[in-house]
Amino acid sequence: MKPIQMVDLKGQYQNIKEQVDKSILNVIENTAFINGPEVKSFQKELEEYLGVKHVIPCANGTDALQIAMMALGLELGDEVITADFTFAATVEVIALLKLTPVLIDVEKDTFNIDIEALKKAITPNTKAIIPVHLFGQCSNMEAILAIAKEYNLYVIEDAAQAIGADYTFVDGSTKKAGTMGDIGTTSFFPSKNLGCYGDGGAIFTNDDDLAVLLRGIINHGMYKRYYHDVVGVNSRLDSIQAAVLRIKLPHLDTYCNARLKVAEYYNTAFVSTDKLTTPITSSFTTHVFHQYTLVLNGVDRGALQQYLSDKNIASAIYYPVPLHNQKAYIDDRYNEDDFTITNELCKTVISLPIHTEFEENQLKYITEAVLSFVNS
Ligand SMILES: *Cc1c(COP(=O)(O)O)cnc(C)c1O
Repeated sequence: MKPIQMVDLKGQYQNIKEQVDKSILNVIENTAFINGPEVKSFQKELEEYLGVKHVIPCANGTDALQIAMMALGLELGDEVITADFTFAATVEVIALLKLTPVLIDVEKDTFNIDIEALKKAITPNTKAIIPVHLFGQCSNMEAILAIAKEYNLYVIEDAAQAIGADYTFVDGSTKKAGTMGDIGTTSFFPSKNLGCYGDGGAIFTNDDDLAVLLRGIINHGMYKRYYHDVVGVNSRLDSIQAAVLRIKLPHLDTYCNARLKVAEYYNTAFVSTDKLTTPITSSFTTHVFHQYTLVLNGVDRGALQQYLSDKNIASAIYYPVPLHNQKAYIDDRYNEDDFTITNELCKTVISLPIHTEFEENQLKYITEAVLSFVNS
């Protein structure tokens, strides 16, 4: 069995190589490297796919979050609530903008922000909530949007891990992850579900005024050449990445489906043991399985990782340390008792390889290895 990595970007590339190579060469021939026609076309195609009025492509998913908060005019002292159990980018940009991050605990089953914890964290200084649609399923947006309305808060959805997921509201209407709040953001980092071949990201909004502001901010606050109306940044998606994304976007649903099939294979295999808690999907969302994450019950995680590694099977810990315990984000305000779920998850989760190119014999090999370890 050849080594099994967390993702198989090479295998995926081989299936679209001809088109990708042609598109990249085309950009080089045309020399429209920045803000070229490929970026415009990708923007339009993604707007259509997501059913959102405006997509603003940018340089990466971290910038997308930062620019979203810049556009909303958040100021020193404003509190922004987000999940304790997520990738650091979310909290990093809050701190970078000198806003006050307020980390809250997540739900045990879905790993997404806990609605009771969210209500508890709101103060007169709270200005925004950033739900992170972790591992590929949406947070409870109906509840979050209702709370935001009640307290007059902005909602920025971090959809870096959930692009393509569908949310169903109580009235039966559906929306794509990232298109429900005031602003949504995503990342096209190569290993993300819609990954390019370098860095890339995008911002989504249905608000026309915000869209204008966002488009200015990503390009030095410039609306007319060399006239700078607002403080901006340099955060553009380059044309080569847009060209790659244009080839991959039509495959996104197929890719998500392939991931779902892998998750179902794992779920079926692991139903036989109570040592492993398999991922649970909320009824209001589809799951695009950016990660397949198990919770271990009384299993030595380090030893399991070593056992898998000896069999050439990669595994990963997303995430090993709660953000409120990370050196950069430690704060006296936090009380350990408010983070019981995240504290526990950081000790017990393990993510298995998941991607779009699996063969059944590989999945069999992985599940047999995991089961032979936990049952021994
Ligand atoms: C990947 C990721 C980001 C950051 O995206 P980059 O493109 O790497 O900057 C932000 N939030 C979450 C939840 C992510 O998974």
